[in-house]
Amino acid sequence: MNAVARLVAPVRLVLTSLLDFFAPWRCMMCHAVLPSDTLWHYICQRCLDRLAPAPTPIELLAHIEQSGDPDECALSFVIARWSASPRQQPGLFDLVHALKYYGYWRIGVELGRELGAAVRLLAPVRYDALVPVPIHPARRRERGYNQAEAIAEGMHEILRIPVWCDAIRRTRYTQSQTRLSAAERRINTRDAFGAGKQAERLRGATVLIVDDVLTTGSTLNSVATAALQLGAARADAATIVVAAT
Ligand SMILES: [Zn+2]
Repeated sequence: MNAVARLVAPVRLVLTSLLDFFAPWRCMMCHAVLPSDTLWHYICQRCLDRLAPAPTPIELLAHIEQSGDPDECALSFVIARWSASPRQQPGLFDLVHALKYYGYWRIGVELGRELGAAVRLLAPVRYDALVPVPIHPARRRERGYNQAEAIAEGMHEILRIPVWCDAIRRTRYTQSQTRLSAAERRINTRDAFGAGKQAERLRGATVLIVDDVLTTGSTLNSVATAALQLGAARADAATIVVAAT
């Protein structure tokens, strides 16, 4: 060990201890102080263990088919990590909300790693790419980033699959879907996606579309439809949470 390295280690230890003391990481769900060596910077192990696992991929696909027109389902396989109700278990949605609207990019990466581990365990095929659900350029200007890309970055760390952000683009500025019915969501997202700058990559590709929340599946289905129309061989989808009603 050289002299600089011998000096850096104790200085780093003192600085981290000071930071832990004055500004510790806290669980966003229960506000407990997190250990300084935590892998998770926004949620404690206790809260993580309490989250309900999502329904199985077969159940999720059936749910999407029931919410829409079964003949129109473009997705072959759908996976999610957790299930939660925005009203009864708001904690997980608080995390997603912080990721989406308050710039907490790292939350997406950390949740994405968990989703990546689930995909590694359960995916029926090897994917050529992860495709984050695109946001409209006007919304990107408002927000500064796309939360689905943060999730894809975390998944990439686990799966080592490339992330394609420019294969598909959002062609319409769609209104927020929170208050819309399943039928309204279908109309709202239909034809909202088209060829991005690098759409030619999709030809013959097997892709996994990535998003934060699955509600009726209309957004994921619209992105999958666009991917298949642009020549993809298969489109599956993965989300962090399924919103139970
Ligand atoms: Zn907690």
